[in-house]
Amino acid sequence: MICLGIESTAHTFGCGIIDDKGRIYSNVIDAYKTETGGIHPSEAKKHHENVKDKVVEDALKNANLRFEDIGLVSFSQGPGIGPCLLVGMRKTKEVASKLNIPLVGVNHCISHLEIGKLMTKAKDPVLLYASGANTQIIAYEGGKYRVFGETLDQGVGNFIDSFARYIGFGFPGGPKIEKLALNGKNYIELPYVVKGMDVSFSGILTNLKQKFDSKKHSNENLAYSLQETAFAMLVEVSERAMAHCGKNELVIGGGVGCNKRLREMCRLMCEERKGKFFSPPNEVLVDNGLQIAWLGVLQRNQATTDYNTMDIKPYERTDDVDIIWKD
Ligand code: AMP
Ligand code: MG
Repeated sequence: MICLGIESTAHTFGCGIIDDKGRIYSNVIDAYKTETGGIHPSEAKKHHENVKDKVVEDALKNANLRFEDIGLVSFSQGPGIGPCLLVGMRKTKEVASKLNIPLVGVNHCISHLEIGKLMTKAKDPVLLYASGANTQIIAYEGGKYRVFGETLDQGVGNFIDSFARYIGFGFPGGPKIEKLALNGKNYIELPYVVKGMDVSFSGILTNLKQKFDSKKHSNENLAYSLQETAFAMLVEVSERAMAHCGKNELVIGGGVGCNKRLREMCRLMCEERKGKFFSPPNEVLVDNGLQIAWLGVLQRNQATTDYNTMDIKPYERTDDVDIIWKD
């Protein structure tokens, strides 16, 4: 059985195709970017409207499949930006009704964890989900993927993007900050904000902006210090979640997981506690349709042809979802 999945929670419109054995056929994304400024919801929605047909066509073409080969369709139900989610849901309903096949809505955050497990063969990991809008430490305990720690304000990616925007870069700012940080030499002290198992970035952002305005520091040193501070916070709570849950695997997910310094810090932490660190390929770290297709496969028993009963869930939390597909 082959599943076509559509992702559209935020900046990326993606379509991925996978079968129930985990065989990957294709994964096509088209991401909304800006020269300056961040994501504007109505602009992102327009972007998705413009590219949706081509992305799905390209995914089928790359997979060497015809529409009729698809047996199941899935979409990212939430959490995400309402207008963007609607574009994805409507496109999947169009595909499903054309073929008269079942449709299933899935949780975006959980899909990062499940695709990470599929691609790395990690068995029962803690997930450090570090993306633009979301930052959570997730692990399976007692029938649910539970959130053991999370950001109290913005996601780590949005935090990095906001600082990047402040110093003149467009979206996404993360890769530009990573490049700048490579030439940073001196650590500038920044607030380190871990509260229990949670992290917070807005105070660090204000502090960084003040330091930038003071013109006393180079952008390279600011970027370097930003990464060292924010990533140490994430690694600290990930390590404590591993210790608390008695798990020895860590998987990274989300676009910020593309950052080599963050991965290195995760790897060192895992090595020191004799654990294993897994980093899936970048293609599935950033938002993509393949993760949605794979979670669709796992949740195929919940799929329905009663399309009108399906809606988006912009505020759905990871721990709202009952995990009924796990072995
Ligand atoms: P996602 O929301 O998971 O698709 O990821 C997008 C986020 O990842 C944006 O905030 C990007 O700035 C961030 N990002 C992408 N590549 C990097 C990188 N190399 N370092 C830090 N952040 C990154
Ligand atoms: Mg994501």
